[in-house]
Amino acid sequence: MARVHNWQLGREMDFPYEARRPDRQFAMIFDTNKCISCQTCTVACKTTWTSGRGQEYMYWNNVETKPYGYYPLGWDVHILDRLGVQPLDGPVYQGKTLFDAAPTGEIILGYLPEDIDYAHPNIGEDDCTGLMPQGAHLSMPHMQWMFYLPRICNHCTYPACLSACPRQSIYKRKEDGIVLLDQSRCRGYRECARACPYKKVYFNAQTRVSEKCIGCYPAVEGGRQTQCTTSCIGKIRIQGFLGAPDAPDPDNPLDYLVFVRRVALPLYPQFGLEPNTYYIPPVHVPPPYLRQMFGGGAEQAIATYRAAREDRKLLGALLLFGATPEISHFFRVDGDQVIGYDAKQAEIVRVPLHEPPAVRELYDVKHRAYRTNIT
Ligand code: SF4
Ligand code: SF4
Ligand code: SF4
Repeated sequence: MARVHNWQLGREMDFPYEARRPDRQFAMIFDTNKCISCQTCTVACKTTWTSGRGQEYMYWNNVETKPYGYYPLGWDVHILDRLGVQPLDGPVYQGKTLFDAAPTGEIILGYLPEDIDYAHPNIGEDDCTGLMPQGAHLSMPHMQWMFYLPRICNHCTYPACLSACPRQSIYKRKEDGIVLLDQSRCRGYRECARACPYKKVYFNAQTRVSEKCIGCYPAVEGGRQTQCTTSCIGKIRIQGFLGAPDAPDPDNPLDYLVFVRRVALPLYPQFGLEPNTYYIPPVHVPPPYLRQMFGGGAEQAIATYRAAREDRKLLGALLLFGATPEISHFFRVDGDQVIGYDAKQAEIVRVPLHEPPAVRELYDVKHRAYRTNIT
């Protein structure tokens, strides 16, 4: 085991390989408060990348309703249960990572889902009761919250899939940190699927090899954001690159939101993989649940997010979500606008911080109809 630094845990940890951070890290931020679970992202990814044999269960991008939705079934409760209760409070994580908790002779604590666990990709959608079928939604009062959690591969800094593969089929690119799987090397042992706690490697029963999100690398290499980002109806996503955690660039929108303002948090950081998709937590969900899912900074992230209306730079960074198909490497607030720039500092997008209200007549004379929404 090598010792590596995991900034999300605030400490060193054991990892099976010597690891070096990439030159820059592919990353994505999701604003969970804006997701409407339309699944456009899911379909965009599927029609682009997974339309071949065995595609029925390949959801490189999926959107699940928490707390009762999962794909595959129960993926997070299974691994949380195996890891056991861990201390989550404080700036330094004192509990065990999945690498620390590995059984003797294994690299990481994991489990392999059953085939049937992949049978219902959108189980639990819109369910806030946990009592799914037959009129359960009438059984109030009960816990009455839910939210949508979009998920892709986290292109982890310390990938479990990579460390568990006996064929060295999985690698992390030095130039952008994207984690790829070489299917010509894969023999379908499913060690990656067992090891990845997020269950974001899929074994394709038809092709008999594994597959996963490729971070839309052809688009990213050309300076464009990923398919699931550019197709997002709710404009909840931004994709770009993170720099070094100890030297963030406040003019890079991802560095700014993740490292500087800490308004976007990793998914289950306690697992120890340093995942690189980040979430602005839902503002209406009980804090204990959010702490377990996003770490100890969840309440502060929500407080920061709530105050964004009065915080021009933060508001500007948030308004870049869904504003352009190109990657914003830098941004700046100028007057009443936020401007995004590409890698060569050329302007690619300009968004007003405040939209003037537009009010329409209640009665539309031309169509002889009343409007239900006039602002
Ligand atoms: S397209 Fe956007 S809003 Fe729709 S489900 Fe996906 S992430 Fe959510
Ligand atoms: S999320 Fe899973 S599949 Fe993706 S890099 Fe991390 S360990 Fe590998
Ligand atoms: S980044 Fe590309 S490959 Fe990955 S989930 Fe999104 S659309 Fe699919």
